[in-house]
Formats: sequence, structure tokens, C-alpha cells
Amino acid sequence: MPQTSNIAAQLIADRELWTDFNAICDCGGRLAGTESEGRAFAFLEARAEAATHVRARSIPVPYGGWSAKNASLRLPGGQWVSCHALLRSMATPRADLTAEVVDLGRGTPEEFAAHADELSGRIALVRHELMFSAGTIHRRHKYLAALERGAVGFLIAGPIPGQTVAGSSGRQDGAGIPAAGITPEAAAALNRTARGWATATLRIATEERPAETRTLLFDLPGHSDEWVVLSAHVDGHDGSESAMDNASGLAAVLAVLRAMALQVKDFRRGVRVALFSVEEWALTGSAQYVASLSQAERRTVALNVNLDCVGGSPNLTALTSGFAALEPMLLRVAEMNGVRLRTVRPLFANSDHANFALAGIPAFRLVAGFDDPNANVAHVLTPSDTRNKVRESELKQAAVLSAAIVAEACNAPPQDVLEWRQARRP
Ligand SMILES: [Zn+2]
Repeated sequence: MPQTSNIAAQLIADRELWTDFNAICDCGGRLAGTESEGRAFAFLEARAEAATHVRARSIPVPYGGWSAKNASLRLPGGQWVSCHALLRSMATPRADLTAEVVDLGRGTPEEFAAHADELSGRIALVRHELMFSAGTIHRRHKYLAALERGAVGFLIAGPIPGQTVAGSSGRQDGAGIPAAGITPEAAAALNRTARGWATATLRIATEERPAETRTLLFDLPGHSDEWVVLSAHVDGHDGSESAMDNASGLAAVLAVLRAMALQVKDFRRGVRVALFSVEEWALTGSAQYVASLSQAERRTVALNVNLDCVGGSPNLTALTSGFAALEPMLLRVAEMNGVRLRTVRPLFANSDHANFALAGIPAFRLVAGFDDPNANVAHVLTPSDTRNKVRESELKQAAVLSAAIVAEACNAPPQDVLEWRQARRP
């Protein structure tokens, strides 16, 4: 049997995990299409090649490039404040967008329904929610609800005082409305009063053109032509270090590679590391990768282990995407390694594992701080997603658990892998 306890010991002694994490944060927020993203890819490629002595395969990923030139909001008092254009937001018209603002609170379907005939020609204002929570309504559902009811703009207010919030509008190509993240203070200034809805002016300038990034693959073959895919996304948001989301996952993947590189050749299945980008662009990098696999190739992938936001809380959760039969294995490996793990079964289409799951490949996302509003992961998508929210011990724990799960999946009997695959409950 492989020396998996050696892998854990090596990870616990690994000092490069923390220096890698800091170096990835030093690259900046890594918004796709920026120099910051390019620096991160160069760093990750060099570090993964040094760990494995394997040359990366670089797969081109075309996508709809987008950048915001500026974004600001004029409050009813006449004061201009900065806001954060959501990814792929439409630009405002040249003369700015001035309209009344309908505050929909959290922005639930009930709130949208109750204000259905007031939204046409106005700006919808909703609240950002903790992303890693069972009842969360994703930003893109709120954006679409606003769009469908004829709103001319979309504002989403973050929970952290003084901080705007980032994220994707969810718009692909084509029609859409200007959309921006604002601070809670700006949202308070847009309150409805006895005089009526507040009036705001939104100014967003953007640039759109076809762009290209890449997916990096590192293959460590095992005895068979089957694989366990260990993935993490490289891209993030400007205005922060994107430290939890997802320098944490990237640094953990590098550490797992260092600890396992020499052992995988003795495993039943190989390890394929996939570093995706444009994850924040509707999971585009992983969508193209999974779509490029034939049915036969998909069957050779036993499991996708996706690390996204694995620091920012000591509490780890596996989002098992409906693959119920995976859960006993994950819990057993966690217990053997002294890690407390929770499993949550519904499919969350909030990271790259979703594309594997939707193609029938067993897949889960490891995430820290799920369902805990007090965890530091509440800062994800704000300018305070910075390295000081993450502890070295959290990254080590995530790396130890990930490596143990990957090793277990690499060596699992074929019958077990068949069971994982068959038991998806949508
Ligand atoms: Zn992420």
C-alpha cells in the first residue's frame, strides 16, 4: 500500500505551503485577462513543474474578455462614491444612468414578485449573501430577476462596513443591464423615504473584446489510464488579493503535488492537476475542459477534488454534488487524519466541480467556513479577501485532507468507483 502517512507528515513539515500562498497573493487579485493573472500562471507553472518534474500542458481557453474602466455612483445628496462593476456588466449610456432605486432587501423571489410592477425603468437594489450557506440565493438569480422585470440597473450591497462587493453579473454575451457592487453605507443612503424612491446616478465604462487564457494540466500517471483530477481556479477579482478565493486552494494543490509526486507511480490511478481560469466567468475554463473530453475519457476520471476557498475557517465541508456514495469514503479519510469534515449533498454550481458533476463524473468541492456567518470567508468577494484572513494551520489541514482523499481515490477498488458514479442524487 502507498505510504499515505508519509504524505501527511511531509505536508505538516512543508514550509513552502505558506510561502507559496503569500507569493500567489503577491500576484494581486488575478482578474482574468490582467497581468496579475499572468504572473500567477507563470508562478504556478514553475512551482508545479519543480515539484513534479513534469512539463505542464497548456490548453488555450477563449472567452469573452471584459474589463471595467471606471465605476461610480452618485447618491441622492449629490455625492459620488466608488462602486465595483460586476464582471461582464454592461456599460452605462454615455450620459450616465439616472433612475429611481427600488430596495428589494435581500432580493428573494418573494420580494421581486411583490415589487414586480415597480421595477420597470428603475434600478434594483439587493443584498449580497454569504456564498457558502445552504439557503443562499446566488447573485445571478437576483440579477436575472431584475433584468426580466425591466429594471435598468442592478446594485448589490455587501455586508462589510466600508467595503464594496465584487462578483459576476452572470451575463454572457448579449443583452444585460449595468450592475455594480456597493458598500452597505451607500445602500443605506438609497433608502426609500416619504418623498418616494431615492434617485441615483450610475456611471460604468467597460471594454469588451475576445480574449484568451489557459488551463494548465500536470499529469502524474499511475498504473492504469484512470485519473483523479485535483483542481483549483487561478483567477480572482481585482481590488483584493483573492487570498481565500482562491490563493488558498492553489497553494494547497502545490503542496499536495510536492508531497505526492514520487508516490503516484505506485498508485492504481494517476493524479491530474488542473489549474483552471475564468472560473469567475461562469466556470468557463472547466466547462471547456469537460466538454473537450470524450465519453470514454470521462469514464477514466474516477473523481474530481476541487479546492476553492480552503482557508478562512478551520471548519471544512465537502460539497458532494449529489454523489451520496462518496460521503462515507470522505468522512472515513477525514477521521483517519484527525480532520473534522462535514458533507453537504446538493449540487452547488458555485465552482469548477459542478461541470464535472453535471457530466456524470463524481466531484466535490472542499470549502472552509460553510454555513458560518462569523467565519472569515464572509470577506470573499470584498477588498478584504486578504492573506491575514487565513491561518497556516488551516491551509495545512486542507492539504493533508486533500492529499489523503486523492490517495484514497487513486487506490480505491473499481467497484467503489462504480458506486460513487452511480449514486448521484440530483
Ligand atoms: Zn472561487
